[in-house]
Amino acid sequence: MVPTPESSAGNGSLAPGGAGSAARNVNGSGPGAGGPVANGPRSNGAGAGTATVAAPATSRKDWVSDQEVKWCPGCGDFTILAAVQMLLPEIGVRPESTVFISGIGCSSRFPYYMNTYGIHSIHGRAPALATGLAIARPDLDVWVVTGDGDALSIGGNHFIHLMRRNVNLTILLFNNQIYGLTKGQYSPTSETGKVTKSTPYGSLDAPFNPVSLAIGAEATFVARTHDMDRKHMTEMLRRAHDHKGTGFVEIYQNCNVYNNGAFEDITAKENRASNLIPLEHGRPIRFGENGEHCVVRNPDGSLRVAEVADVGEDAAVIHDEYLEDSSPAFALSRLASGPHEPTPIGVFRDISRPEYSEEVTRQVATAQASEGEPDLKSLIFSGGTWSTN
Ligand code: SF4
Repeated sequence: MVPTPESSAGNGSLAPGGAGSAARNVNGSGPGAGGPVANGPRSNGAGAGTATVAAPATSRKDWVSDQEVKWCPGCGDFTILAAVQMLLPEIGVRPESTVFISGIGCSSRFPYYMNTYGIHSIHGRAPALATGLAIARPDLDVWVVTGDGDALSIGGNHFIHLMRRNVNLTILLFNNQIYGLTKGQYSPTSETGKVTKSTPYGSLDAPFNPVSLAIGAEATFVARTHDMDRKHMTEMLRRAHDHKGTGFVEIYQNCNVYNNGAFEDITAKENRASNLIPLEHGRPIRFGENGEHCVVRNPDGSLRVAEVADVGEDAAVIHDEYLEDSSPAFALSRLASGPHEPTPIGVFRDISRPEYSEEVTRQVATAQASEGEPDLKSLIFSGGTWSTN
């Protein structure tokens, strides 16, 4: 569960000016009651009318917990942790107003390493807990950290409903195409034919493409990045966090123990120019050492890679993140069948749609205005009951 700020404020792990003197919520609506709150960009404005003051600036060390990091040396998770801890001071949020929620798996140890509130929850269920928290406490900055097994197998159901609801939170999917914590079984993103301890003759499953799945589930913000480029990753995290609604980022993450090199065909420095397709809004989709490759549209709407010399400068598709129609973003997500051929990275889709917790808050207020304060007892005895023999 989420500890009260009072219980964490005295843990001494924040630098002077940290939790003990931090900005707090003045509207008395939550555990932070007692002082002004400094809402970050994630706030949906439910605290409108409350006084605000500028929050003291934080630095990276304010976000680093005192817990020993127990990932394997060389794991891609370290890059992601560093990127998040370096980004948060920049975006004006506070540790005592931030919550990281995870499920089960290597990536799900993430909340331990953040000096924020955290919930290390049930396998695949982080989206459910995060949805409840984001609705009940819209003043908090809620993040979900999950892996390919956690989000897409055990939690597949919760994942797709989070996407379609557009709850105000940021979700990071560490995709290493393997179950690492349980020592190397194939996951929902492992390639067909993958030989693991649980698939000794090769996996027969068609893998999920997380970006396609998110877009198909009506996600409003979808991006992909990788653990070999912290600058790009940081920008994707910032964009996802700034998005109003669910910001989803798939991160190609190397598990150097059980699936080493899974992404090196596209993420190794020598392969990036020829195999990473950077998506930039409003610009032709081109890549290659000298921009000699491009993405063009087929008559049936699908996309393919072509040579600029063959199709001409004007044939390249112009990337548009803001299209309401999800088909172009979906077609982009289908361009590569796996991380061994030219693969797009960047923001696939960024559209605006009503945010779920605002809608819930509005609906409850409207119902209370017309029907008065709720009465649980009268609801229970309202007649919709029956007896069985
Ligand atoms: Fe990282 Fe793999 Fe080790 Fe897990 S098993 S900590 S994913 S290297």
